[in-house]
Amino acid sequence: MNAATATSGRCQFLLVTNVMFMAQWPISFTVRWLLLCTLPGAFSQTIDRSVVQQGTTLRVQAADGINAARMDGHIVRLFPAPEGGLLGLMPIPVEQRTGQYKLEFLDAAGAVARATPVTVADAHYPVQNIVVSKEIAGLSLSPGEADLSAAFRKTVSETRYWAEPFELPVPNCLTSPFGVRRFQNGKPTGDFHGGLDQGSPAGTPVRAVADGVVRLVKCWNLHGNTVGIDHGQGVLTMYLHLSKFATTEGAAVKRGDVIGYVGSTGRSTGPHLHWSLYVNSEPVDPGQWITVPAACRADPPFSARKRRS
Ligand SMILES: [Zn+2]
Repeated sequence: MNAATATSGRCQFLLVTNVMFMAQWPISFTVRWLLLCTLPGAFSQTIDRSVVQQGTTLRVQAADGINAARMDGHIVRLFPAPEGGLLGLMPIPVEQRTGQYKLEFLDAAGAVARATPVTVADAHYPVQNIVVSKEIAGLSLSPGEADLSAAFRKTVSETRYWAEPFELPVPNCLTSPFGVRRFQNGKPTGDFHGGLDQGSPAGTPVRAVADGVVRLVKCWNLHGNTVGIDHGQGVLTMYLHLSKFATTEGAAVKRGDVIGYVGSTGRSTGPHLHWSLYVNSEPVDPGQWITVPAACRADPPFSARKRRS
């Protein structure tokens, strides 16, 4: 995730202030502020940005004593981070209403230890029309397809396998970006594109974007041949429309391992890889975690029309 670096909070500002004014203020004043700053947990809860776009991931950092973060009713757990402290990942849904929110840091009892304002900004996702045959448009979900994929997205396992940087699953260019409002044969579907499409030749190896455990290997009507990987602590990826599998459920995979091959199974108009990144149940823009390839096909275009916020 190429997000802005985390702020270090008010303490750093206060310490600088004290250095600047140390010569002018009584020692007792300076010591009082320094003590406040070094109190355990004082001002140590931070977020990486205060303005976030729809479909992105907000990083929440805290010291010990904070168990979770809550925003607009969505609670995410914080886990010990390899670099120290605690880290939580708050997804901002694509359809989150724009405006002002509160990000609350919750202690073990669920009480609010601190709150900080967050502004959700319109991502201005464009519109895309997809032309599909009657046969493909008429496909229906396999038994269990909706339930199992929904349950997979909600997985929050204790162990963190993921580490940055992620690796692209295929090297090919983008044919449909994240978040576009989808039309099918000119009619609104009421849905958005929850992943990236990369136009890739059939048979191209598909690689795991990060370490993890394979939780889903399924032949489904709409998703097609699908692999789902749990990267730990609420980070998951799914790879759709595969022609062949190269892994099994329960397998441990490393970043870059081949898990399958590009195909056009399920609701697909031609060989490509659709892959999605889920953070704490929500599809989020992988472009924040990995450099995505540029769009390579002008037809069909991504409409310049902006959807209503
Ligand atoms: Zn797609």
